[in-house]
Amino acid sequence: MAKKENTTAKELKEKLFNKRKNAYLRMSDAEIKKCDKFCEGYKKFLDAAKTEREAAGYIEREAVSRGFVPFDKGKSYKAGDKVYYVNREKAVILAVIGKEPIENGVNLIAAHIDSPRLDLKQNPLYEKDEVGYFKTHYYGGIKKYQWPTVPLSLHGVIIKSDLRKITVNIGEDESDPVFCVSDLLPHLAATQMKRPSPELIKGEELNVIIGSRPFKDDDVSEAVKLNLLMILNAKYGISEADFLSAELEAVPAFKARDIGFDRSLIGSYGQDDRVCAYTELMAILEAKSPRRTAVAVLTDKEETGSDGNTGLRSAYLKYFIADLAATFGVRGRDVLSKSRCLSADVNAAYDPTFPDVFEKNNACVLNGGVCVTKFTGSRGKSGTSDASAEFVGEIRALLDKKGVIWQTGELGKVDIGGGGTVAAYIANLNIDTIDVGVPVMSMHAPFEITAKADVYAAYKAFEAFVGQ
Ligand code: MN
Ligand code: MN
Repeated sequence: MAKKENTTAKELKEKLFNKRKNAYLRMSDAEIKKCDKFCEGYKKFLDAAKTEREAAGYIEREAVSRGFVPFDKGKSYKAGDKVYYVNREKAVILAVIGKEPIENGVNLIAAHIDSPRLDLKQNPLYEKDEVGYFKTHYYGGIKKYQWPTVPLSLHGVIIKSDLRKITVNIGEDESDPVFCVSDLLPHLAATQMKRPSPELIKGEELNVIIGSRPFKDDDVSEAVKLNLLMILNAKYGISEADFLSAELEAVPAFKARDIGFDRSLIGSYGQDDRVCAYTELMAILEAKSPRRTAVAVLTDKEETGSDGNTGLRSAYLKYFIADLAATFGVRGRDVLSKSRCLSADVNAAYDPTFPDVFEKNNACVLNGGVCVTKFTGSRGKSGTSDASAEFVGEIRALLDKKGVIWQTGELGKVDIGGGGTVAAYIANLNIDTIDVGVPVMSMHAPFEITAKADVYAAYKAFEAFVGQ
């Protein structure tokens, strides 16, 4: 008798409990194979597009090769047409026209293509005690102590006084030199190690070493700086004043790699948020003729708060949708109010080494699938757009119907910290918006970790959403 009751309880639990299951226990061998193959393309993207400008260029090239054409607000469009718009080389919008009238709203996905890094200051070059340096100002939220002793590459543009643009990308090729911030040896670091950890390395200590060989002349001061400027002049045709109108970004020089004997994880710089950018990009590039118009925005400036004309607090997305709507004789605001958005950004993966900051029932885990985050923000949900139960329900039904492996997740325990995404700025346009993205371990570190199964699940989620 007792045995029978046990069986019933087990069955009831099966029926009534919500249990998370590792993605690998749910995927077929064929799916795992597809997932691994998909992630090879993702790693290539990570290596080829380390900054927002490089990502925007990569996205534009891919879009053009798949038949997307520049959006022209003077033209008229029909179902299946593919258009794109590039905002100042730093953000891109892609759209595939749907079969339904645009006044039914669009399905929008938004990821960001900027990542934390060290930006060069406007007057960066100096020599101290016969070593040459670039001064930096960090971009985005970083733990500063993580950035010394990491090989760095340099990416960006220099605008000359005659407005010629020089593109810089050095440190990625095996034959290139790299750059580096130094740190103290432990033998002499007793005082440094007593600093509070946010000051373990101070902002003004993130100085990038760029050379040490002096110009051969005993009489000249700053001979290392002079020699470096001669090299820069020969290579790029620039002088020191040209840094004043430059945007140069130092990022980790290493490549994306598999992590683990089983190769289940990916380690790389800039996975927040290029993991969502790539998965979103692949989903829209492959969209054939969706029911509703699909729009993918890949934006800049998320890591500094989304301000500026290439960030999502700018009107560029709103204007694009208004211009697209106008080609059908429809008002932009009528399209926006009926639209739905997946804010595609990463969430913090539960870290078994640091469990205390997570509330395990409500944290996303590696290999748990793509993470749906109803709200972000900090303290009393401050700064969140908080998706409605109705919209969460719609997304839940869609993901389940399409067999997408997904989980929910909140960024850490209540009052432990918090963070935001672009979701609020899109929701403020009167668009139903929810965060959907990939769990990341060591987020904002030079080498971030994702799980391949989650990357693939994100792609499947975006594919399902775009295909509607
Ligand atoms: Mn992000
Ligand atoms: Mn971030």
